[in-house]
Amino acid sequence: KYEDIPRKARRGDSAEEDRKVVLGPDGKPCRACNSKLAFAAAMRGSKLKEKEEKGTKREGALVEGGEGETGGNKVKAGEESEKGSPDYPKDCPPDVEELGRSTWTFLHSVAAYYPSVASEEERRSALKLVESLARLYPCQSCAEALREELKREKAEGGWEEKSLVLGKAVERGVDFRRWLCGIHNEVNERLGKPKFDCSEELLRKRWKDGWDD
Ligand code: FAD
Repeated sequence: KYEDIPRKARRGDSAEEDRKVVLGPDGKPCRACNSKLAFAAAMRGSKLKEKEEKGTKREGALVEGGEGETGGNKVKAGEESEKGSPDYPKDCPPDVEELGRSTWTFLHSVAAYYPSVASEEERRSALKLVESLARLYPCQSCAEALREELKREKAEGGWEEKSLVLGKAVERGVDFRRWLCGIHNEVNERLGKPKFDCSEELLRKRWKDGWDD
């Protein structure tokens, strides 16, 4: 079931699985599902193959007026888009870690500012936010794992407290923060990272008030 989940996402991975590159739904290596290193290694392999097939034909550059022009970073027709050139785009698309970090920052910040007692509409929105994430998160295997967790939770209850399930947690800020911390810890555990202390005090310091210096 978890064949496509990034190397660190499963418990007990072997060194061989470590080298696995996750493919997106289009069958190509997916930046949002791999670390920069794994993605770069996969692309080096496929670039080499392309070069062999197409000789020295230039590829991948955004050409002014051409398809894929963003109006931002681009190279002019006839110029090379090699790394180091002044027109080379400096902001790279996120890999699985950068995307994850930014998404957690957003989610924990939402939870940090979530009302103590949420209105019906706020509860529905919070539910939709998490459910949408489980559907649309660009790392498909991460999204699938989240869907599995939500399904499991509905059947078996929350992690540390059986009653702390998403549908109930969205009623109060303190519970929503704890629930989110729990689901983040589930991912941490799968990746072999330490668990975060989900006490309200620490969550507030980390995501809203700042640490006492
Ligand atoms: P992150 O885990 O990104 O955490 C950012 C910061 O949040 C930490 O520095 C810490 O201060 C704080 N923090 C840590 N844990 C908690 C917590 N429990 N509660 C509150 N704050 C906390 N990556 C994979 O390789 N495979 C996956 O299957 C996968 N699934 C993901 C699913 C989702 C929904 C998301 C959003 C991300 C997923 N990721 C996955 C990415 C992964 O969780 C990390 O974001 C990424 O590995 C970068 O980790 P990091 O060590 O920088 O810290």
